[in-house]
Parts: sequence; C-alpha cells; structure tokens
Amino acid sequence: MGNEQLEQLRGQLDDVNLKLMDLINERASLVKEIGKVKSAQGVNKFDPVRERKMLDLIAEKNKGPFETSTLQHIFKQIFKASLELQEDDHRKALLVSRKKHPEDTVVSIKGEKVGNGRQRLIAGPCSVESYEQVEEVAKALKFHGIKFLRGGAFKPRTSPYDFQGLGEEGLKILKEVGAKYDLAVISEIVSPHDIEMAVDYVDVIQIGARNMQNFELLKAAGSVKKPVLLKRGLAATIEEFINAAEYIHSKGNGDIMLCERGIRTYEKATRNTLDISAVPILKQETHLPVWVDVTHSTGRRDLLLPTAKAALAIGADGVMAEVHPDPAVALSDSAQQMDIPQFHEFISQLIDSGLYQKEVSIANK
Ligand code: PEP
Ligand code: MN
Repeated sequence: MGNEQLEQLRGQLDDVNLKLMDLINERASLVKEIGKVKSAQGVNKFDPVRERKMLDLIAEKNKGPFETSTLQHIFKQIFKASLELQEDDHRKALLVSRKKHPEDTVVSIKGEKVGNGRQRLIAGPCSVESYEQVEEVAKALKFHGIKFLRGGAFKPRTSPYDFQGLGEEGLKILKEVGAKYDLAVISEIVSPHDIEMAVDYVDVIQIGARNMQNFELLKAAGSVKKPVLLKRGLAATIEEFINAAEYIHSKGNGDIMLCERGIRTYEKATRNTLDISAVPILKQETHLPVWVDVTHSTGRRDLLLPTAKAALAIGADGVMAEVHPDPAVALSDSAQQMDIPQFHEFISQLIDSGLYQKEVSIANK
C-alpha cells in the first residue's frame, strides 16, 4: 500500500518536473526574443534593475512552503542561465568568428597575401634606429625574398627612461627603405591620435601586447583602411584576444591578423611562455590569419629556430622575428635579436627543415 502511494506521488512529481522543464524552456525562448530586441537597440543584455523587480515580485507572491530567499536563489540561477543563452548567441555572431564567416580571411598587403595557406615571415629590428640600420636589414630580407619588414618607431617600454623610439621620423625611414626595396612595412602605433598619420607611412599597423585592450586605439585602427596586426596581451585570455579583434572589425576594418607573442606565466626560463596551442584555437575560432612572434615570446636567441618550426608545423600563417645588424648595441631588446649572419642561418635551417619554403615574392617573379 505504502509502495503504491509512493509510486503515485513519484509519478506526479515526474509530471511536475516535465511541466517545469517546459516552462523554463518557454521562458528561455522569451529571453532569447528579448535578447534580439536588445541587440537591435544596442542595449546591455544584463539589466540589474529589471532583475531586482522580478525577484521582488516573487517575494510578493510567494505562498510557500519555500522560503522567499530559497526561491530567489533558484530564480537567480535561472536568470543567470538565461543570460548565458543570450551571450552564446552573441558569441556566434562575432564578426571575427568562424561561425559568422567560415572561409579564411586572406589579407592583401602591397600585393602580397597572408592567410592563403602560404606561410610567410616578418623580420626586422625591434626599433628603427637609423636609415642605415634599417637598410642593412632590408637587404638581408630581400636576399631571401622576404616581403615584410618590421621596425618599431613608437616603443611602449616598461621604463619611461628607456629609448622610446624615433616616432614619426622612424616611420619615414621605414617608408623610404620599404619603397627602395619594395618591402611592405609594419610598425606599432600606440596612440589613437597617430593612426591617421601612420596610414601614410606603413602598410600594416601593429597594435602591441601592452595595448591589446586599449579600446580607443582598437576603434581608431578599425576606422581606417589599413591591415592591422594585433598582438595578444601579456596576460590576455584567448577570449579577450578575440574580442579585441572584434573591436577593430566592429568599426569596419576586417583586415586583421592576430599574433601570438607569449603570455606571462610563472616560468622564468623564457621571457614569456609561448602558447603554441593558441594558434590552432585561434584558427578554429576565427577566420583571421595567425602569426607567431618567436622573439618576444621566448626572449632567447637559441629558441628562435625551434619555436619557429613549431609555429610553422602547427599551422601558423607566419612567423615574426627580430633582426638587427649589431644586436649588442641595439637600443631595445638587445639580448634576443639575431644579427645578420644568424638570420641567414635561421632562414636556411627553416628551409632545410622542410617546414618553410623560400619566398618568391610577386615582385620578384
Ligand atoms: C614589438 O613587436 O615590437 C613588441 C613590442 O612586441 P609586444 O607588443 O608583443 O611586446
Ligand atoms: Mn622587441
């Protein structure tokens, strides 16, 4: 008798569970509709005032046996899950995501392509120091058919007393050398006010690790027609990195390339820890080309070659490395830049490994 009653009550409980499930799902559908309306209006998904009102209504109408605080706790969980549903939709809709755009983005830079399956190199000094210095590196790049020349003109240094870069003068040098050797030039811009000016000098605007979440800078870079190389922040998660790229895209500039450059961990053997698995994750999650900077991630000359091989093997669209005619006297990053003979050796070892094919630029064809 007792058992029959138990079974009957359990049956009723199952019915209530299913009704609750249907109601929670019905609620979720409504929440999704609200999410769409809010998106169209450009307003925040989370509305604490509205949430307070819903909880107050529950307090007012509760007839027990549950305590109001218990019910409010349960409803808060439901609210939270509903908000996550809206955010999932939001993530699906990111302009830089593969879900939004399944094909790879191929960025064109001075007639050269990045992201079309052919792996490229960016090389050059940490800082632009003089015309002669940049020219010497440019000749070495030219020798290998490498098309992308980097050089910092605005240097975001840890100490304000360290060399801050030549500024616009540095960009002029890069532009002149680029024009003479038919190279595309890449340089970091640190202030939103300099973006317009930089467009006249560089082929790619670099946004550095320290500025990955400088949202005004991201928006300024998104408002011009110039490819952007966005570096991962020192302690940025992949999600934050992707959202930083989204800031640029949201302003209309879709020519974005991502660059993994190591993240800060407790490990001291390297300057940063190269997060190599970020490369396939970024390739899966976004449609953007992904570079690996082996210089700033390792901070060690002896690790440039093995990490460059790893980057190419794992499917990066290219590798960035620093080269200086005389690293010992370099005004920044003196310990980790290659000199020119080391650079030649680096390239021939990469070619010998079979992971990298000598570049034949369109200009050389
Ligand atoms: C650089 O590439 O010049 C540089 C400063 O790198 P990061 O922003 O990754 O530190
Ligand atoms: Mn450097």
